Amino acid sequence: MTDLTAVSTGRLPDRDRVRRIVDDAHARFAGVDEGRVADYIPALASADPGLFGLSMVAVDGASHDVGDTDHPFSIQSISKAFVYALVCQDLGHDEVLRRIGVDGTGLPFDSVMALELNRGAPMNPMVNAGALATTSLVAGGWEAVVDGLSAFAGRRLEVDEGVYASEAATNRRNQAIARLLQSYGTIYADPLETTDVYTRQCSLLVTTHDLGVMAATLADGGVNPITHERVVDAAVCLDVLAALATAGLYEQSGQWLATIGLPGKSGVSGGIITIAPGKGGLATFSPPLDVAGNSVRGRLATHHLSQALGLNIFASAPHPDHG
Ligand code: GLU
Repeated sequence: MTDLTAVSTGRLPDRDRVRRIVDDAHARFAGVDEGRVADYIPALASADPGLFGLSMVAVDGASHDVGDTDHPFSIQSISKAFVYALVCQDLGHDEVLRRIGVDGTGLPFDSVMALELNRGAPMNPMVNAGALATTSLVAGGWEAVVDGLSAFAGRRLEVDEGVYASEAATNRRNQAIARLLQSYGTIYADPLETTDVYTRQCSLLVTTHDLGVMAATLADGGVNPITHERVVDAAVCLDVLAALATAGLYEQSGQWLATIGLPGKSGVSGGIITIAPGKGGLATFSPPLDVAGNSVRGRLATHHLSQALGLNIFASAPHPDHG
C-alpha cells in the first residue's frame, strides 16, 4: 500500500497573497491574442475568444475567482480525468492498469494508429482510445458518470444539448476508435453506446469555478473541500494525477511537466485544470488554443502561477545543514 500520510510538502501563501497573485496573473495575460478556437466540433467554433477566467480553490475551501469564471462551457476532455477516477475507485489500481494502461503514446489524442501499433491496448485514459475504454468500464453507465462528476463539482451538472448534438453528428472518428477497440476485445460495453456516453460526458457544462473545485478535490485526497463529501479515496487521486502527468496536455505533456511541474488536463473548449497535491486546484478558461490543442492564455497563466505560488512538485532545496 502507498503511504498516504506522507503528502507533498509546503503550503500555499496566505489568502491575501494568493488573491493578489491570481489577480495579477489574469491582468498579465488577458491581452494575449494568440491561438485559434477549436472548430472540429461545429458548436465550439462560435466561442468568444475574449473569454478568460481563473479560479484557485485551496484544500481548506478558500477560493478566488477572477474574470469570466461563471461562464458555462462544455468540459470536453477534462471529463476524462474524473471518469477515470470513478473507474479507479470501482476497479482498483491493478485492474485499471491492466485494462487501460498509463503510458504515453506520443501520438495525437484521437489517434487510431496508436491502437494499431499497440495491438489494441487502450494505452492511457487521457487519450480517446483509453478514455472510451474507461467510460465502458463505469458501472452504472451515464447516471453514474453524471452523479460522479457532479459530486466532484459539488453541484448538479447538466449536458449542453447543442454541443452534444453537434459532436454526436460528427464523431465518426471516436466511433471508429470504439469499434477498433471492440475488434481487439479491449472495450467493455457496446462500442456505439459507449461513444454516446463519452460524447455526453464531454458535453457536460461547467464553469471555471466548478473546475477549480473539481481539481481541488483531487488535491484534497478525494474530499470536495467545499461540500466536504468524500468523492473518491486518496489512493485514487494518486492514480489520476499520475495519468495526468503522462498525457494530460496532449503531445505537450512532457513540456508542460518540465516547465510547470504539476499534473494537469486540458480540453478543446479552452479549459485547463492543474492540481497542486495537498495545496489546491487551479482552473483556467480561455478558448483560443495552440497547435497541440491547449489554451494559450491558460498555459501562460498556469506557468506564471506555478512559479509565483511555489507549486512545482519537483522543486527542492538543500537541507539547512548543507548551507
Ligand atoms: N469530445 C472531444 C473529442 O473526443 C474532446 C476532445 C478534447 O477536449 O480533447 O474529440
